[in-house]
Formats: sequence, structure tokens, C-alpha cells
Amino acid sequence: MKLKSTILFTILISSSTFAQDWFSAQKVTQHISILAADSLGGRATGSKFEEKAANYIIKQLKSNGIQPKGENGTWLQQFDFSAGLHGTGGRTGKANNVIGFLDNKAKYTIVIGAHYDHLGDGADGHSLDGHPEGKIHNGADDNASGVAGVIELARYFSQNNEKEAFNFLFICFSGEELGLLGSVYFCEHPTIDISNINCMINMDMIGRLPKENASLAVSGTGTAAPFEKLVKSFENGALKITTDSAGVGPSDHTSFYNKGIPVLHFFSGTHADYHKPSDDIEKINAQGEEVILLIIAGLIEQLPKDEKLAFLKTRNPSMGTSAKFKVTLGIMPSYANTDNGLKVEAVLDGKAAMKAGMKDGDIITQIGDYPVKEIQTYMEALGKFNKGDKTKVKLIRDKEVMVLEVEF
Ligand SMILES: [Zn+2]
Repeated sequence: MKLKSTILFTILISSSTFAQDWFSAQKVTQHISILAADSLGGRATGSKFEEKAANYIIKQLKSNGIQPKGENGTWLQQFDFSAGLHGTGGRTGKANNVIGFLDNKAKYTIVIGAHYDHLGDGADGHSLDGHPEGKIHNGADDNASGVAGVIELARYFSQNNEKEAFNFLFICFSGEELGLLGSVYFCEHPTIDISNINCMINMDMIGRLPKENASLAVSGTGTAAPFEKLVKSFENGALKITTDSAGVGPSDHTSFYNKGIPVLHFFSGTHADYHKPSDDIEKINAQGEEVILLIIAGLIEQLPKDEKLAFLKTRNPSMGTSAKFKVTLGIMPSYANTDNGLKVEAVLDGKAAMKAGMKDGDIITQIGDYPVKEIQTYMEALGKFNKGDKTKVKLIRDKEVMVLEVEF
């Protein structure tokens, strides 16, 4: 079956009751509700909970006719990890990537991946909660949503009776939250010939597509010539797609980019529950995820056949690293395309913005002398300041203009 993509998106977005043939919000919800349940304890790297999550993923892949492609004929690829923060002697142990293969007897293989680990009870120091200890971080969006995507794409491509022009390697990575450990390990110890990988599709946080003014972020579009145009072709009246050419970003696709493989990362946006115990199933937009999966499948079907994508190096990202900036405000910015200011999705605990009294939902319109229209002008404005500088931030809260004093 081929996807009549554009028509389907329009229907899907305009009518929530439309039942699409393949990607069902119900299945997406089922996977996320299991992976992000309290009984899975937040899936900390190397924990018994992560093992439970791996078993669920394996069961799902198996039932869809996917073959194991880990080490020694198993589904798993084991690696050592250390969760210690700067030599403070944290947890160490062994964790596992889960790897399955769909052999279409094609020359090249597309990797479809998502990390399945999360923050457990917050003990490893990556939580943004003020007092995370002992609270289960379910990670429904980050990244049970991406794992559900891997499972559903495996189901789609294995049941697709029109054989694809590519093989598929489905990987659920562990150790992402501790620093892309699983994907780095896979790229150093690939279980297939890495030179036959056509591209890597990463899904990290695809469960929170806004229900209104929906905007999907896709990065890596500069890593192969056809990507930008192809990705943009899925944009329509109901869904904006913002692209970023950079192949380096804060998730597992970076490990593949660093090996010279074209990559795309799909991301439905930041939110106030990011890396907090409140990233729960109730807030997932499963219908929105359905649309994202439809786009990914449609995009794969339109890639050039029988030839390998040529890898392109991209500029370093303007986001995701702090190297370019001497200061941070300490907020999670919205990536939505606006022209009237930058929306603050979440104010991070203990940083400059919080100290200045900034709140979730504020819309920043000016920093010092620099007007802020969206993410780009926001980043440019931040680049003008040094540590210790004091300035005024103009913002809109509940339709009222306010000015806050910020010290970087
Ligand atoms: Zn993530």
C-alpha cells in the first residue's frame, strides 16, 4: 500500500475520528501507556525496569515478523555504562540496545531509532524537578512516544505488501539520557555493515504535537540533498514544519551523523514537563503522533530508490549546545513559528529567568536593546551578553506588558 499522504493528513488533522488504515492513535496510546506506566519505574539505564521495557519492545517486534539483530543472534546489544557525575562514583553496570531487522533483500538499509531509557527515579542527576529523588519519571513523551513510533513503523513496513526498496533496522537505544551511550556504542559496534546504511531516522519526543497551530520540528535536513524539499512537502494548512539543517543535536541521530550517515530527527516540541515526573501519558497527543508516523512512512517511500543518499556535512547547530553562548536564561523556548515574541514553555529551576520572576507561558518580546520575534532573534539577542551582565527583559503575560530585571 502506498500512502496518499497529503490527502490523508488533511483528513486526519481535520477529523479526529478518521481511522487511518495503518497508524492508529489507539496502538500508539497502548504502547506508551505500558512503557510509561509506574510499574516500569521510569526505565533508568541498566535497571530491571529497563529490562521490562526491552521485553515489551521485543515482544512487539517479534509479533510483527521482525528478526533479532543484536549480538549473537539475540535481540540485545549489551554495553557498559557509568551514570556517575564527574567522578562522584554513581551507578555503573550493563545496559542493552534492542535491535531488530526487516530483510527486504535490498542493497541498503534505513535505520529507524528511538531511545527507550529515561530518568528512572531521578537519582542520576538529569531531572529538572526541584526535588526529584524518589519520584518516578515516566517519560511518556521522552521517549515512550518515540519507541511507540519504532514499533508502529516496524508493523507498517513488515505488513506492507509492496516490498520497500530498503531493508530496515529498528533500534531502541539505551543510555541516551546519560549521553547518547547506546547509539555511540552501536555506531562503534554495528551489527550490520555500516557502509550499507542509507540514512537514520530518529524519533525523540514525538508525543506532544500541539492540537492547535501544530508545528513539527525536523532537524538534519541538510545532511542529504533531497531532505529539505521532501520534508517541507508534508507541510499543509493544519501543520507547519520547521526544519533545521544541522545533523548534530541533543539526541541519538548525532552518533550516526558523526559516522557520515544522513540523519533526520523528528520532534514535536519542548514543554513544561520535560525531564520532570509530570511527563505522563495523559498529556500525549496520540493522534498527533499518528500524523508524524504517517509523514515518516510517506517520506521514506519517496526517498530515491536503489541508490544511496550522499552524505552532506552541515554547519554546527545554533541550538542544543551552549558553546556559542556565554550566558543562558534558563528556559525551555517554544519552537512554534510566531512573529510576536518567543513563548517560554518552561522556566527551569534555579536559573536566571526563574530568579527574575519569569513564568511558564510568558512571551518574551525584547532582551536589552534587542527585539525578540522568535527562536532565531532570541538566540541572537542572548549572544550579546556576558556572564554577570544585568539587563531588562520585556515580556507579555496575560496580555499585559511587563519588564523584568535579569542577571546572567
Ligand atoms: Zn529523549
